Amino acid sequence: MANYPSDFVRTDVPTRQSSTHTVFSREICVYFDEENADLYKPLSEVDPVVQNIIDKETWRQFSGLELIASENLTSLAAMQANGSILTNKYSEGLPGARYYGGNEYVDELENLCRERALKAFNLDPNVWGVNVQPYSGSTANFAALTALIQPQDRLMGLGLPDGGHLTHGYYTAKKKITASAIYFQSLPYALDASTHLIDYPSLEKTAKTFKPRLIICGASAYPRDWDYKYLRKIADSEQAWLMCDMAHTSGLIAAGELASPFESCHVVTTTTHKTLRGPRAGLIFFRKDVEGAKDLEKRVNDAVFPACQGGPHNNTIAAIATSLLQVASPTWKAYAKQVIVNARTLAEVLVGYGYKLQTQGTDNHLVLWDLRPVGLTGSKVEKICDYVGITINKNAVSGDTSAAVPGGIRLGTSALTSRSMKEEDIRVVGEFLHRAVQLALKLQKEAGSKLIKDFERVALTGDGEGAREVKVLRKEVRAFAKKWPLPGIDVSSLTKPEGFEGDD
Ligand SMILES: *Cc1c(COP(=O)(O)O)cnc(C)c1O
Repeated sequence: MANYPSDFVRTDVPTRQSSTHTVFSREICVYFDEENADLYKPLSEVDPVVQNIIDKETWRQFSGLELIASENLTSLAAMQANGSILTNKYSEGLPGARYYGGNEYVDELENLCRERALKAFNLDPNVWGVNVQPYSGSTANFAALTALIQPQDRLMGLGLPDGGHLTHGYYTAKKKITASAIYFQSLPYALDASTHLIDYPSLEKTAKTFKPRLIICGASAYPRDWDYKYLRKIADSEQAWLMCDMAHTSGLIAAGELASPFESCHVVTTTTHKTLRGPRAGLIFFRKDVEGAKDLEKRVNDAVFPACQGGPHNNTIAAIATSLLQVASPTWKAYAKQVIVNARTLAEVLVGYGYKLQTQGTDNHLVLWDLRPVGLTGSKVEKICDYVGITINKNAVSGDTSAAVPGGIRLGTSALTSRSMKEEDIRVVGEFLHRAVQLALKLQKEAGSKLIKDFERVALTGDGEGAREVKVLRKEVRAFAKKWPLPGIDVSSLTKPEGFEGDD
C-alpha cells in the first residue's frame, strides 16, 4: 500500500461504499484514497453529460425504426463482454506468443474466439485459420491486402457506385480515396447495365488485360448473391488471389442462407457487427493449404500485427466470441431466414406501390430503392425519414451520374428482425416508407425549390400541411417503434431522457 498521510488512513471502516459498489478491502486498514475515488463511481455519477448522451441514443434506438442495412442490434451478453475489464489488457502477438506477460486468460479467450469463428462457418481447422484481432472491417481489409499483395500491385473490386465498398480500391477522377487505391493500383468492375447483376463476363475480359494480382468480391449494397465459382475461374486464369469481403452478409452465410465463399476464396474478411450481430470489429479467414503459399497464415497474422495494428481489443474479442456462440446456436438459422423473408416482404410492398428497386427484389437482407423515377434524391428521403424517426441511408444506384447526389436509398432488415418484427410488421414499415416518400414530394412542392435547406425549412418550421403531416407521421412511427423490445435494454423501465427531441 502506498504511503498515505495518516489522516487518509482510516482504520475504523473495513468497507467503503459507492452508489453501486461496495468495495471490500483485503486489508484491515483501509485508506480513503481521494484521487482514485472516481474509479469506483458509476458513469451516471462521474459523467452525467455522457450518460445523458447515451440515454438519448438509447431512446432514439427504442423510439425509431432502424433500417440501415449495415447496422444491427447486438445482444446484452455481447455488450457486457465489450464493456468488461478485458479492456485493460495489452496482448500484442498471438496466443502463446505475446509481447507482454499476464496473458493466460486472454490466450484462452482468443483461442476460444478462433475456434468459434471456424465453427460458426463450418470450417475445418486443418484447412482454414482465422485472425480475430482486426479492429474493424476496413482495417481487416487493409491487413488482408498487406498479406496478399505488394505495394503498387493491381487489384479489382466492385465499383463503389455499383455497391462495392470504399476499401475495395475506390478512387475518383481527382483523387485516390482510400488506402486500397493509394497504395495499390485498382480498377473497378461493374454491374450489367440492364440486369443490375455483377457483369462477370466483362470482369473476365478486363482481367485479361489488367492482370490483377487480387480480385475482391463482396459488397455493401448488392441485393443478390454471388457466383464465387465463376470468380475463382477468372482469378485462376490470371493467377490472382480471390478474396471475399462478406461484411454485409456473413450472418446469412453462417446460417447457410446464402452461398458460401469459403469453397472458392483464398481469404475471406468480414465485419462482426452487421448481419453477424456482434460488436464492432473484423475477422480475416485464410486458407492454410494453398499450393505455393503455405505461409498464408503467417502472412495474414503478421499483416494484422505488427504491420497494421497494435494491441488487440480483448474486450471486443470477448464480445465476438459470445456473438459467434449465438451464431452457432440452432436459433440463428431462424433469425437469418426471417431477416431475408422480411427484406423480401419489404421489397414486395414497395414494388406493390409501383416503386423501382434495383433488381426489383432481394436475396439477402437489403433492398436498394431507386428514387430517380419518383423525382427525389436519396438525400431528401434520408432527411424526411430522419424527421419521422426512420433511419436509412442515401445510396448510389446503378447509373447514377453524380456520386455526390445519390439517386437512391438502401434499406436493411437485420435490426428490425432483431427487434422481433415479422412479415406483417414489416408491411407496416413499408407503408410508413411509402407515406414518407409521398410526403417528401409534397414538401418539395411546398418548398418551391429543390434545395435541401428549403426542404428542411418547410418540413420542420413551416406551418403548412407538409409540416403538420411530418408531425403526424412521426407520432405514428414512434408509437409503433416503442411497441418493440430493444436488445440489451430493459425497455419497461425506460423513460424519455432530458434533451431528446422529436418524440412528443
Ligand atoms: C461495412 C463494410 C466494411 C467496413 O467495415 P468498418 O467496420 O466500417 O470498417 C468493409 N467492407 C464491406 C463490404 C462493408 O460493407
